[in-house]
Amino acid sequence: MDTEKIQNYAEQLSRQYNPEGLSPYPFGNIQKDKKDLKILLTEKLPGSVSGVIVFFPKESIFIILVNKTKPPTRRNFTIAHELGHYFLHSDEIKKEMIVDSDNVLDKVNMLYRRDKGLSTKMEIEANNFAASFLMPADLVRKAWEKLKDIEGCSQVFNVSVEAMSIRLSRLGLVT
Ligand SMILES: [Zn+2]
Repeated sequence: MDTEKIQNYAEQLSRQYNPEGLSPYPFGNIQKDKKDLKILLTEKLPGSVSGVIVFFPKESIFIILVNKTKPPTRRNFTIAHELGHYFLHSDEIKKEMIVDSDNVLDKVNMLYRRDKGLSTKMEIEANNFAASFLMPADLVRKAWEKLKDIEGCSQVFNVSVEAMSIRLSRLGLVT
């Protein structure tokens, strides 16, 4: 799927499950709707891992594990990133679980992967999905108009300052 399609898809889902534009994002609304998805926070993942998505064929369920020891902004982005995998890459997850390190979320550096080319593409897609999902363009424009401050905006969307700056610059609001 090309970048623009992913962004539109992510924003459409974002609105569908969060029509009021609440932040932090009410991920529980998606879980209530998707019977084949569970999002669990855990302290048991290795420190280098932010999130995991795995499919259990017997129960026909996708489980997202999120590293609870990470800061809330990182956890939010991780959940949105794993949801990107869930909505975009379910067939691939059925073949092999996806383990995302902090590096993957920051600059797409893969661990534990068979197929580097496909993995890189999937990680870029999941990060694009996450950015649009957590920071829909119209809401970002409104927040920026009001605040004109990257840190202030990052607090509005409960994302890191880094994630916010990337989003603002992609939307052409900061250079
Ligand atoms: Zn990933």
